[in-house]
Amino acid sequence: MVDTRKILIIDDEEDVRLFLEDFLTERDLIVFGAGTGEEGLQIMEKENPDIVLLDVMMPGMDGLEVLEKVRKDYPKTHVIMITALNDESRIAKAKKLGAVNYILKPFSLGYLETELMGLIQKA
Ligand SMILES: [Mg+2]
Repeated sequence: MVDTRKILIIDDEEDVRLFLEDFLTERDLIVFGAGTGEEGLQIMEKENPDIVLLDVMMPGMDGLEVLEKVRKDYPKTHVIMITALNDESRIAKAKKLGAVNYILKPFSLGYLETELMGLIQKA
């Protein structure tokens, strides 16, 4: 099962981040949140999470830059991108850089329950 695993959410949209934090905390994961890529990398260094949920579109360091760095410095960490439906070129780039999967925004609770928990269990 997925308990006692650490998961880091990096997303500049606070409502999305808080929603995911609540959702995952209720499922017995240890959850960290970061509003910027830079902050996310600081948490990576301290907490070494098993899974990172990473938003693509962020001001400053974007999700693809963060992904590149995480793949290089934390090769065992499983990265799931959070992206908008119409972002095909970025999705393709993320896959090329080594993201294992992605979830699409906007998401519903039902979608998260089936897709995201399935991905986390496979991580
Ligand atoms: Mg964003």
